Amino acid sequence: MALMLDDALLSSILDEVRPLARLGKVADYIPALAEVAGDKLGIAVCTVDGDCFAAGDAHERFSIQSVSKVLSLVLAMGRYDEAEIWQRVGKDPSGQPFNSLVQLELEQGKPRNPFINAGALVICDMLQTRLSAPRQRMLEWVRQLSGVEDISYDTRVARSEFEHAARNAAIAWLMKSFGNFHNDVTTVLQNYFHYCALKMSCAELAKTFLFLARQGRAPHLAEPVISPLQTRQVNALMATSGMYENAGEFAWRVGMPGKSGVGGGIVAVVPHEMSIAVWSPALDNAGNSLAGVAALEILAQKIGRSVY
Ligand code: GLN
Repeated sequence: MALMLDDALLSSILDEVRPLARLGKVADYIPALAEVAGDKLGIAVCTVDGDCFAAGDAHERFSIQSVSKVLSLVLAMGRYDEAEIWQRVGKDPSGQPFNSLVQLELEQGKPRNPFINAGALVICDMLQTRLSAPRQRMLEWVRQLSGVEDISYDTRVARSEFEHAARNAAIAWLMKSFGNFHNDVTTVLQNYFHYCALKMSCAELAKTFLFLARQGRAPHLAEPVISPLQTRQVNALMATSGMYENAGEFAWRVGMPGKSGVGGGIVAVVPHEMSIAVWSPALDNAGNSLAGVAALEILAQKIGRSVY
């Protein structure tokens, strides 16, 4: 089906969802995030044919937060064999809030999937083992993937989160007690908070994640980022676990693999066709962008796309 997509369509979608932002709440458990204006709203789409479309605040950078969990997993996939990763973290939806501890105790310190905090912390622990400078490496790699040289960490956000780290520290220590965490907890938490504090715009995110729509290849890089099979696996994990306890609802309404962050960003993928990034900081109860999900739902309907 031909794709009817342009900046004007994206702009009209934003106009439709703008009132919804008032119903959500900007994350405030990380104090530095609470300072972001709740009325920001942006969207960007990159197609496999090389077109990019954008509307609203699509070029303003924000804290990508848990969207970074996809990046750390993909980085780890390049450094570890499949079995090494999946013996330490599962592939199933948790049905629980992103920072929950309950299943960890019941399941002997093995997180349900890499897109909840526990799972991402295990992945960061693995990166700490295999990379000599994990924070610098991530930055260089995201700059390569996005083609943007000045992407950086918001160190104020990272510090603010470190000062309120009780819950993530508890998750890491619990996993350590079960033998599923090998490095120094503080070092790995710092890496994780920095990854979450990557500052990127919708336009940069859509470009960065285009490889997930292109069987693992970024258009401007000679080497594949991951294999076609790994790409399918990452998209499957995003579809089942990318939106925490609302993954089912998101599949129902939007029908695309997606990954959200408490900064209000969501990245979504239409395999073989496009990558999409939306941003609206006001969140629903699960910590997903309220207007962002609605924008993706309308976009999916307007362009007639769903993976289901
Ligand atoms: N940095 C946040 C945390 O660890 C990420 C959570 C999120 O974006 N869902 O709590």
